[in-house]
Amino acid sequence: MTRAVVAGRPALRFAPSPNGALHLGHALSALIGFEMSRRLGGRFLVRVEDIDQVRCPRHLAEAALTDLGWLGIAWEEPVRYQSAHFADYAEAIHRLEAMGFLYPCFATRAEIAAAARTAETDPDGAPLYPGIWRHASARRIAAHKSRGEPFALRLDMARALDAVRSRSTDPLFFTALDADLHARSVLADPARWGDVVLVRKDTPTSYHLSVVVDDARQGITHVTRGLDLLAATDLHRLLQVLLDLPAPLYHHHRLLTDDTGRKLAKSAGDTSLDRLRAQGWSPGDVRRHIGLA
Ligand code: GLU
Repeated sequence: MTRAVVAGRPALRFAPSPNGALHLGHALSALIGFEMSRRLGGRFLVRVEDIDQVRCPRHLAEAALTDLGWLGIAWEEPVRYQSAHFADYAEAIHRLEAMGFLYPCFATRAEIAAAARTAETDPDGAPLYPGIWRHASARRIAAHKSRGEPFALRLDMARALDAVRSRSTDPLFFTALDADLHARSVLADPARWGDVVLVRKDTPTSYHLSVVVDDARQGITHVTRGLDLLAATDLHRLLQVLLDLPAPLYHHHRLLTDDTGRKLAKSAGDTSLDRLRAQGWSPGDVRRHIGLA
């Protein structure tokens, strides 16, 4: 095991998607990132992942910042709101499109489920895309576009992986850090995502694309996030290579589970930080409860 080094001052971030109140799981993630930034003498940034502006209204983002401040977390201003940076994502999308890695897909969820040839799913549990639109003719695409039908843009995974292989003899690796900052190399397996959606039908980007663009724009050197996003890192590494973006180091931390052993969800309203605060919990109580005291 080795110690990983980065050029320049480390920068870390907490990047919530505020489609509900922050709960104890968010507190754990934010505090782990904040404390690692302090240990490393680095910067700590906050990014609001609100590409879905219907589900992530501004008042929930503001409530999230109030919760973080209450926990004793300090961050550098300005907070980056993804909803203010669609132009950055469009630029990355155009680059991927110009390189021939994206194609439009008009299929509905039901059509995809019906066409799925195997029971195989991607790491989010969605059926692996059966390729319905992968080789559609320009005429067919134009006909659907002219009818104003909504479409997503998908990554042609096989093509992207071929391009990466032809560029370098190295397979895709990322550097994973444990809690003591010991580093090891992990082989990424983006193929398990299949032809993943990079531009959604309802918003002109996606979680995966926005995250890699923003981590680069914000100069993030260490990504700290939950183990639930471990598989996403495989895909993020591929997108970084395709877009020539730097590779941050990754620390995937433990997850809090509820009484039934399931990951705490945002719907777990009884662990929301505002409710616990109203019940008289202190930031120290939160830390003790999540095993950080
Ligand atoms: N916005 C994501 C979430 O709340 C986290 C993104 C990340 O840390 O990469 O699950």
